[in-house]
Amino acid sequence: MNALRVIAETIKKGSSFLFVSHINPDGDSIGSQLALGKVLEGFGKKVTILNQHPVPDIYNFLYGSGKIKNEISPSESFDIAVVLDASDKNRLGDVVNKALEKVPFIINLDHHVSNNKFGQLQYLNQQASATAVIVYDLIVLLNGKIDKDIAECLYTGILTDTGSFHYLNTDAKSHQVVAEILKYGISPNKIYEEIYEIFNLVSIKLLGLALSSIEMDKTGKIAWMKIRKSDFNLSSLTNGETEGFINYVQMLKGVKVSLFFKELVNDKKQLVTKVSFRSKEDVDVNKIASGFNGGGHAHAAGCVVLGDMDTALDKVIKEVEKYI
Ligand code: AMP
Ligand code: MN
Ligand code: MN
Repeated sequence: MNALRVIAETIKKGSSFLFVSHINPDGDSIGSQLALGKVLEGFGKKVTILNQHPVPDIYNFLYGSGKIKNEISPSESFDIAVVLDASDKNRLGDVVNKALEKVPFIINLDHHVSNNKFGQLQYLNQQASATAVIVYDLIVLLNGKIDKDIAECLYTGILTDTGSFHYLNTDAKSHQVVAEILKYGISPNKIYEEIYEIFNLVSIKLLGLALSSIEMDKTGKIAWMKIRKSDFNLSSLTNGETEGFINYVQMLKGVKVSLFFKELVNDKKQLVTKVSFRSKEDVDVNKIASGFNGGGHAHAAGCVVLGDMDTALDKVIKEVEKYI
């Protein structure tokens, strides 16, 4: 039996669920969690959604986003945990890992090439452009009822993970799922505006700063943008505040690898530099990011380098140069 079918059968038997996703959750993690959550609630099941970090403001329009927790009481218990859009337990953060310790059964639904297969059951589809595509297939197997709210969540996952349908992972299946969920009356125009056009003042200033920081190596094939902690004295930066910024680097003609360096303080109060990678053609950035304990997909990946921006920049660019 197909692994996703086994997962559907297992889910049907459970009654209380904990849904978790990666640190700094993005549109795909939140969209996937909320969509599957509402479907299971429709079956009378109890679903708690927990992430290490808060929902970025740009996803607050999604139904149920206000109920996503960042901590839970140790007395709560669950039959099954579903880990969505995370390739590795290390990507979940301390709060989530602590909560998972007490859950007897873990299911992982994911699409990252860097997935290291954890939990009792996994469905890993590296061809899927987003975990939301997998969640759609699972909802169909469950005979779940999709409504407009659920469709908006799924659409958000696919929209953000395909970079608005222009990354190399955009395929027929992404569009087939979108064609199906558009039948529930969602507005791609409204969702796009919510996510990409409703910039707050901080974000627009950050964009200006990031744009003016863009540099290129001498081959013109590597380009990067950066935001230093001191620029805005940021203690944290959610994915939402910089969503889509890296696409501007990708727009530079001739550039094969684009990078975005964000210097910030992590939950352990250490100065770190988060690096986002995007690539064109044959450059596998998952491989490069994996060398820095990160991962992701062939054309979109990330990692966190301990230390300040200049150190990270030097190390990472030297490594990227080997792949060009
Ligand atoms: P981002 O640049 O944060 O949008 O991430 C691009 C892709 O790489 C997403 O699929 C992330 O889930 C993945 N990714 C980002 N950071 C990491 C990391 N530290 N470890 C593994 N995967 C990551
Ligand atoms: Mn994600
Ligand atoms: Mn994803």
